[in-house]
Amino acid sequence: MAAGAIQTPQILELSGIGNPKLLQSLGISVTHSLPNVGENYIDHFATRMNWRVKDTVTLNEMARGWRLMLAVAEYYARKTGILTLGTGLVHGFVKTDPAMATPDAQYFFVHASYANAAERILDRFPGMTIGVTQLRPESMGSIHIRSTDPLAGPSIRPNFLDSEVDQTCLIRSMQMARRIVSQPAMKQYLHSEMSPGINVQKDEDWLSFARENGQTIYHPIGTCRMGEDDKAVVDLRLKLKGLAGLRVVDASVVPQMVSGNTQAVVMMVAEKAADLVLEDARER
Ligand SMILES: Cc1cc2nc3c(=O)[nH]c(=O)nc-3n(C[C@H](O)[C@H](O)[C@H](O)COP(=O)(O)OP(=O)(O)OC[C@H]3O[C@@H](n4cnc5c(N)ncnc54)[C@H](O)[C@@H]3O)c2cc1C
Repeated sequence: MAAGAIQTPQILELSGIGNPKLLQSLGISVTHSLPNVGENYIDHFATRMNWRVKDTVTLNEMARGWRLMLAVAEYYARKTGILTLGTGLVHGFVKTDPAMATPDAQYFFVHASYANAAERILDRFPGMTIGVTQLRPESMGSIHIRSTDPLAGPSIRPNFLDSEVDQTCLIRSMQMARRIVSQPAMKQYLHSEMSPGINVQKDEDWLSFARENGQTIYHPIGTCRMGEDDKAVVDLRLKLKGLAGLRVVDASVVPQMVSGNTQAVVMMVAEKAADLVLEDARER
């Protein structure tokens, strides 16, 4: 199985591998009982803080009108310019408490701001964004099927910000982002903070802002957790526990969130899995 942390548990459950109670409630006969398939879902949750800026040109203006025409020409002439770049050009890793051994939050700086983030519509004036995410959230949710129709999406319950540690980390890291942007070096470019806006000062208001505006940054892991304990779904050789001939090789086996984006981890799991498959084949 290598269908990813959302589809792998879905396919296993549709095939009768999972929590017997859930499977029976949907009329699926149990092929193999593994109650923790679809549990232990962990993901990165991010908020976006936006500022209106001045005395500079941002992607908001570069991505429309005559500047966009110029960018297209530059791309065809020299293969350079905004059309050759991603949006998150600067990243930062910070500790929300200096006593911590390693950073616990990540910033994604974007030289653009969204009028509508969901539809990717940029503001019509210069703006910038800092995306803020906690690196190693404690909150856990689940991903389970809700029907026997393989084309129906599963139910995804992220349970974001359930843990107090996660709440505090996100609040402190957003406050730090505001402090960074208010430093003298930024002053000449700052027009105003648009989101959450300077009225947000108290911890509970920061938390409400996060709950209302935050979203996944698409790093789901853990729904077929690897481990040696009884609750693990796959063993240390990525074999599904108690069932011969089936390995899981994707983000769903990753037991704990990593301190950064997840693609490299999955590549590493895949490389390791290739070695394990070859080793087992040689022993046969
Ligand atoms: C919008 C977005 C942006 C991201 N940006 C970054 C980033 O900048 N950096 C980073 O490190 N990570 C990023 N990630 C996360 C990264 O892409 C994932 O962690 C990684 O791809 C997970 O790998 P996977 O193999 O577990 O799952 P996937 O990459 O999702 O692979 C699963 C594959 O299984 C296929 N599949 C599913 N069901 C079936 C089926 N029934 N039959 C056949 N095939 C099926 C899917 O089509 C898919 O190709 C991003 C993810 C998203 C969604």
